[in-house]
This record gives sequence, structure tokens and C-alpha cells, in this order.
Amino acid sequence: MQSGLELAADMAVVGAGVIPDMLLAQKAGLQIGERGGVRCSSRLETAVLGVFTAGDICEYESVIHGGAHVRIEHWDVAFNHGKTVALNMLGRDVPHLEVPYFYSVLAGLGELEYVGPAYEWDEEILRGSFEEASFTNWYLKDGFVKAALTWGRSGDLEAARELIVDGTPLDERQRAALADPSSNLQTDIR
Ligand SMILES: Cc1cc2nc3c(=O)[nH]c(=O)nc-3n(C[C@H](O)[C@H](O)[C@H](O)COP(=O)(O)OP(=O)(O)OC[C@H]3O[C@@H](n4cnc5c(N)ncnc54)[C@H](O)[C@@H]3O)c2cc1C
Repeated sequence: MQSGLELAADMAVVGAGVIPDMLLAQKAGLQIGERGGVRCSSRLETAVLGVFTAGDICEYESVIHGGAHVRIEHWDVAFNHGKTVALNMLGRDVPHLEVPYFYSVLAGLGELEYVGPAYEWDEEILRGSFEEASFTNWYLKDGFVKAALTWGRSGDLEAARELIVDGTPLDERQRAALADPSSNLQTDIR
């Protein structure tokens, strides 16, 4: 290793490109955020007016996350950033309100999907069963739904998006409905 440390191993996994290279952005005078991206407004505009970012590089003020600055490295997020940026370049003055989403295909086993993101949580609620490979795991903080990860239950995602944006803490009845795979998330959580 660079430090001179030698480690014996049968295999080495190289994670290349996992930290964004911000040199160009820095040289251009853009502000770098705490999460390592280019700090942007809710309109995805940088501190240099007229310069916008989309995708992995974009660290934006997210209205649906209470104004927190988020930076998310997912394909769907980059895709939707592009739409918001295009509208704002055309002068529409719209905040980015899309709930971040990603899917990932795991080694032929199936596909997981996630909406959020939850940077921290203090409660998890399982809806469905790991054994039957059909579940949604809900992540809550102080009773608020922050994120949901699903495997085989894509139908839960729309309600998850609404709950994340809703910003209302759930009571015991609503939590029980989240956990019950037969409940109707559109009617039983309201
Ligand atoms: C191994 C891996 C697996 C992933 N799996 C998933 C997944 O399962 N699900 C998911 O949602 N996301 C996944 N991602 C993340 C997803 O690919 C990224 O979030 C998405 O591609 C970001 O889009 P982007 O446009 O911001 O950047 P990119 O897709 O990286 O595009 C940036 C482009 O800019 C070009 N470029 C860079 N510097 C310059 C320069 N100076 N001049 C000109 N061009 C330049 C690059 O060559 C590149 O083509 C994965 C990423 C990796 C690396």
C-alpha cells in the first residue's frame, strides 16, 4: 500500500472511481458540499448562476427531505435531475421533487428496489417475509417514514414515496398496517 504496509491476501478487490473527482468543479469556482458533490440549490443550480449539475456530482437542497442537502449516486436520480435541470435552464424555476429511487439486480437472485434515502433511522418495520423473498423493509426516524427497501413487492413503492413526502409521523395503528402484508397502504395508513 502507499504507506508501505503489506497485507497477505488471496484476492484483492479494487473499488475504482468510488470518490468523485472534483478538481474540474473546484477549478471552475463551484462550491463543494459536505457530501463531496457540487453544492446546488433546490433548482439544481450551483453557486455560479446559470451553471447547473445533474447526477452523481449534484449535491442539492432537497425540499422533500426538509431542505437537507443530499447527494445520491443512482441512475434514476441522474435521469430525473436532467429533467429538472432542463426545465430550470428554460426558466421554469422548479424545485427537484422526485423521491430518489434505485434498483439493483443481485447476481441472478432477483432485484431489490429502494426509495429514500434514509441517512439515519431508529426503527425498522418488516412487511412480508425474507424466507418467501417477498418483503418491504421500512426505515423510520422519530415515527416518520424515511425510506423503504423492497424485494418482490414493487407495488409498495408508490405508497412509500407518498409517505416519505408526506412528513407525518405514524401512530401504532399505521405502523401495524405497514407491517401487515395484506393491508392496503393507500387506505389503511391514512
Ligand atoms: C459498478 C457500478 C454499479 C452501479 N450500479 C447501479 C445500480 O445497480 N443502480 C443504480 O441506480 N445505479 C448504479 N450505479 C450508479 C449509476 O451508474 C450512476 O449513479 C449514474 O451513472 C450517474 O450518472 P451521471 O450522469 O451522474 O454520471 P456518469 O454516468 O458517470 O456519466 C458521466 C460521464 O461524464 C464523462 N466525463 C467525466 N469527466 C469528463 C470530462 N472532463 N470531459 C468530458 N466527459 C467527462 C464520463 O466519461 C461519463 O461518461 C452504479 C455505478 C457503478 C460504477
